[in-house]
Amino acid sequence: MNEHILSLINALADSHSLSLEQYAELIEARAPETAALLAQKAVAARKAIYGNDVYVRGLIEISNICKNDCLYCGIRRSNKNCDRYRLTKEQITDCAAEGYRLGFRTFVLQGGEDPYYTDNVLCDIVSELKSIYPDCAVTLSMGERSRESYELLRRSGADRYLLRHETADKAHYESLHPNDMSFENRMRCLRDLRDLGYQVGCGFMVGSPNQTSNTLAKDLKFIEGFKPDMCGIGPFVPHKDTPFRDHPPGTVELTCYLLSIIRLIHPPVLLPATTALGTIHPEGREMGIKAGANVVMPNLSPVSVRKKYELYDNKICTGEESAQCKDCLSARMESVGYHIVTSRGDVRRQK
Ligand code: SAH
Repeated sequence: MNEHILSLINALADSHSLSLEQYAELIEARAPETAALLAQKAVAARKAIYGNDVYVRGLIEISNICKNDCLYCGIRRSNKNCDRYRLTKEQITDCAAEGYRLGFRTFVLQGGEDPYYTDNVLCDIVSELKSIYPDCAVTLSMGERSRESYELLRRSGADRYLLRHETADKAHYESLHPNDMSFENRMRCLRDLRDLGYQVGCGFMVGSPNQTSNTLAKDLKFIEGFKPDMCGIGPFVPHKDTPFRDHPPGTVELTCYLLSIIRLIHPPVLLPATTALGTIHPEGREMGIKAGANVVMPNLSPVSVRKKYELYDNKICTGEESAQCKDCLSARMESVGYHIVTSRGDVRRQK
């Protein structure tokens, strides 16, 4: 590794900031030794705050009905081969009950932008969950909504919200989304969520079509400024019924490299080793943890719907019961020297 790249890595670890050009250079300079040094520094930064703990979030995929038509996504509106479903309030609380029994204290409700979930319907589900499980955090990942809607949901008890920004480059954003969606609205949502007191997660896919070192540098600069509490990054994986079916998937190597950089940009960030990462490599999630991630999100959805929530091809963990999913992830984390913690796992302040 040359002196210049070494000095960039040291500057990043010390000051948690680089210029746009420097981020792009660091991405371009990818090599095994660079990745190893970044991972080593990322793991040290994470250990200082979270030790060897890996937080678990129980993911409940509540609907695959979506009014949007994102070009990369398998549950996009125009996919006629998608077998649509929506969970009832009972089914959702049953999933949470099973998760609670397994020790989970955070539930993530994720879904397509299904118009059925009006403010009334969703607020009712959130307040029901919070009244049965006051000791649990409820996280929503239900896409773009109005500020008023986010405010009502927050008042009903929602603690956190995950909304990946998808890309911090407007032209790139427009190449991944149809005309009726906008970069400005996505960013407006993130600002509103932050303002309303949610713990907020942003994030992006690695290797999405038209992504470059420059667009990635913008993602990193955005994360540096926004300082999200959570940041979901995983490889793009093509889905056979989308316009991007023939585009190659993102790589484990670049995903892990970026996980390390993001850890160094914002050490307290909660960073999942995603299901998509586990999908493109059998040990993808372990590799993510070793690069600086500290969250895993086992699936708590009813087994009967899991295959239907198919954002991309060959998604893993679609056949197992929740308990198996948790045990499998637990064993995987132990195998690399970490252990799973089922507490709420709120973001820590930087030491
Ligand atoms: N409707 C919600 C939840 C979307 S699904 C929302 O808009 O936030 C969660 C994430 O899955 C998306 O933000 C996207 O980054 C990711 N995703 C969608 N399609 C994907 C694909 N083909 N490969 C990898 N990740 C994908």
